Amino acid sequence: MYTRELADEAANYLSIVQGIRRELHQIPEFGLHLPKTRERILASIEGLGEIHLSDKLSSIVLHIKGAQPGPTVLLRADMDALAVREDTGLEYASTNGYMHACGHDLHMAIGIGAAHLLATHKDRLKGDVLVWFQPGEEGHGGADIMLEEGMHMITGSKPIAAYGIHVTSAWQPPRTFGGKSGALMASASDMIVTFKGRGGHGSSPWMAKDPISAMNEAISGLQTKINKSINVFDPVVINVGWIKAGDDHTTNVIPETASFGATVRTFSPGMLEELRGHVTTYLAGIAQSFGVEVELEFGKYATEVVMNDPAATELVRKVVKGVWGEDRWMEWPHPIAGAEDFGSVVREIPGAFIFLGASPEGVAWQETAPNHSNRAVFDDSVIPDGSALLAGLAFEVLDAAASA
Ligand SMILES: [Zn+2]
Repeated sequence: MYTRELADEAANYLSIVQGIRRELHQIPEFGLHLPKTRERILASIEGLGEIHLSDKLSSIVLHIKGAQPGPTVLLRADMDALAVREDTGLEYASTNGYMHACGHDLHMAIGIGAAHLLATHKDRLKGDVLVWFQPGEEGHGGADIMLEEGMHMITGSKPIAAYGIHVTSAWQPPRTFGGKSGALMASASDMIVTFKGRGGHGSSPWMAKDPISAMNEAISGLQTKINKSINVFDPVVINVGWIKAGDDHTTNVIPETASFGATVRTFSPGMLEELRGHVTTYLAGIAQSFGVEVELEFGKYATEVVMNDPAATELVRKVVKGVWGEDRWMEWPHPIAGAEDFGSVVREIPGAFIFLGASPEGVAWQETAPNHSNRAVFDDSVIPDGSALLAGLAFEVLDAAASA
C-alpha cells in the first residue's frame, strides 16, 4: 500500500514538522484574519504548487497538479486559535492571550507535511489536490466563506472527495485514528429568548406581569417538551448558558423583561428547523398563560452536521488498518455533540472527517485536559502519520478514479 511508503517517509521529517507546529503555537491568532499564521505557512509550502489567496480572510489554497490529468481531491487544515489564556507550562507556550487549545496548529503542520508528500511524488499523482488552510473554524464560518468564494472549484471541477483531520487530547487513545459513517458531529446554533411583561412592586405580583416566572417555567419545561415532541433516536441538545433578569441590588421589584440564551445541537439535516418549530409553539403557549410576550431570536449562523460519506469513511478505515494495523482505528459508536464547519465542506463534496488521538505519552488519555481547555497538551509526534494519511487518501482516491 502506497500510504505505508508515505508514512515511512513522513517519519523522517518529524523534527521539521514539530518545529513548524511549535512556531505556529507561539503565534496563535483569532478569527478570520491570521496574517502571521498565513505568512508562516506560506514560507513552508513555497514552490509546491499554485497558491490562491483571498482578501476576505487569511485563507491559503495550495493547488498541487499531478503529472497525470484526473479529478480533484480536497484536503483541509484549519488555522485559528481560541481566546484562551494558555496554562500548560510548555516551553513553547503562547503568551499573547490566545491559544491553539484545539490543536489547529497540529492540523496546519499535518497539512504542510501532506503537501510536501504530494508534491514530492506528483509524478505518480493521477489528478489534482487542493490543500485548504482555513481560518475562522471556531464559530466564524471560515469554511462557508471559502466555499462562497469558490475555493473548492479552482481546478474547474468539483472535488470528488474531501478529507480533514482533527486531533484530540482526550477523546480517544493516543495515535489512533477514529470516526464513523454518517453523522459524526453536531449542527450547532443558539437561541435567545426574552419574555416581556409589566414591571411592578414585588409585594403584589398579581398586579404586574412577571416575566421571571414565565422564563422559569419555560426553562424547566423545555426538556420535557423536547422529550414529548422529538424522536429520541434523532436527539437534540438544548442547554441554557445564561439567564438575565432583575437587578441584584433589589428584591422588591418585578422587572419588565427576563431573558436566557441556550446552545442548540442537532444531528440530522432538517432537525434544526423542526426543533425551532416546537420551541416557538411551546414558548408562545407559556407566554400566553402568564400574560406576557415572548421574543425568540435564533442565531443566524448554524453549522452543518458533519455527515461522513460511507464510502469515503470506509476508505479511511481500510487505509488506517492496512498501514498501521487494526488497533490504530477506533470506530466511534455515536456522534459527538461538538461542531465543525467542515460540515459545510462535506455537504458539497462527499468526504470524511477523521479524529486523531494526540494525548501526551505517559498520561491516561481519558483524564487529560480536553480540547479547548487552557491546559490542553497535544503530542505533536502524531503529525507525520496525519500527513501520510491525508496524502495517502488523495493518492488512493485518484488511483481508484483512474482505474474506474
Ligand atoms: Zn477544532
